[in-house]
Amino acid sequence: MRRLKIFDTTLRDGAKSLGLNLNIAEKMEITRQLVRLGADVIEAGCPACSAADLAAVQAIAGEVKGVVICGFCGANEQEIDCCAGALRGAEQPRIHTGLTVSPLYMEKKLLNPAQVIEKAVFAVRHAKKYVGDVQFYAADAFRGRPSFVAEIMEKVIAAGATVINIPDTSGYATPWEYGELISYLLDNVKNIDRAEISIHCHNDLGMATANSLAGIKAGAGQVEGTINGIGERAGNTSLEEVIMAVYTRPAAAYGVELAVNTKEIASTCRLASGITGVPIPAHKAIVGANAFKGAGDIDDTTPANEPYTIIKPETVGVHPGACRPLPAEEIAANNSNVSVKKISITTNGVTRATATVTLQVEGDTITDAACGTGPVDAVFKAVERMMGVHVLLEEFSLNSVGRGSESLGDATVRLRCADNGLVVGRGLSPDIIEASARAYVNALVKVKILSIS
Ligand code: MN
Repeated sequence: MRRLKIFDTTLRDGAKSLGLNLNIAEKMEITRQLVRLGADVIEAGCPACSAADLAAVQAIAGEVKGVVICGFCGANEQEIDCCAGALRGAEQPRIHTGLTVSPLYMEKKLLNPAQVIEKAVFAVRHAKKYVGDVQFYAADAFRGRPSFVAEIMEKVIAAGATVINIPDTSGYATPWEYGELISYLLDNVKNIDRAEISIHCHNDLGMATANSLAGIKAGAGQVEGTINGIGERAGNTSLEEVIMAVYTRPAAAYGVELAVNTKEIASTCRLASGITGVPIPAHKAIVGANAFKGAGDIDDTTPANEPYTIIKPETVGVHPGACRPLPAEEIAANNSNVSVKKISITTNGVTRATATVTLQVEGDTITDAACGTGPVDAVFKAVERMMGVHVLLEEFSLNSVGRGSESLGDATVRLRCADNGLVVGRGLSPDIIEASARAYVNALVKVKILSIS
């Protein structure tokens, strides 16, 4: 039986496409958790896209072992060279290069099919000078002519590609069409036995998981996706959904076996959500807050409604009834050289609020006050003034962690800072105003580091 390889692109096609600027420590935390989950390949970034991506791929390649570390690049010498350089320290490096193969794109770029093939073959040959494992992507393959996709695949496999990625870049496919395309390639690419087929779907029509499963059933050996399905537009395939869809059926149903530690799914999804600041919807399959609550369930202490439940919560690492301990990773997010010492708020709930905030900044204690439309806005203004950074608040959310009076406020902010994209900050505290202040401080510290580097 084939073993289905899990290719995670949370850091590249996920967070990066959303414009999120995660620092190396955050990317490393996500990567380590993906290794615990049992991912086979981790696409750590696009080194030629930015200095930050280059540094992150370099750091991950140097430190994370026992898994394939992949770098993404376009089909040109310069990007491939940069990618290869970033992967130098990797135990199992993979270069993922390619280009778009749909007629629409070729017309736009004034390229004829022969030129596209020439570029593709050149890119694979060039990447092969650096690494043995080269994955080729034919972006928008689903809207390409199948005979052309087959032709280009045969040529890149002959040039040394070990994996060929057939993406539904625009999220247009239906499961049966996607399955048919994979079957067509298996039947029409003569040297297909020398490479593995990878599938990469997007969720524009809500079918990314279904399309991926159709591709797996048709014979693909690798599935690409992100944790929680994050990604541009409607997102990428949710890896946790594909994993559990395969897991809940006998191996023969899809013709593949999995080597994933499903018990790590909940912590992986929670960690990715916390770090990216992209919340998990309550009704989200597998990991949403309501995923295991049936109509008969009253609260978290009621066991899942056995006859109707197809997945035991424990299988994905959810333990209903147990008060969730705060993961040490989450606590670390609050550790920095700036901390919130004291907050006092004056508000009558009608007019503007005033906040007086005291921060400890590298041993110094500073206090400032500001007015805002509400207490949180006033706190943010005071903090911003003391830290001397100007940002645009794009999103602020507040959740509760734990149950009852023991619960903590969990605040997440997403800030936009000029050229540096989006930065996420998180803060936890029994006091929701303090949690908000901590989240803001956490984000501003990251902004400051980014603007220095
Ligand atoms: Mn994509």
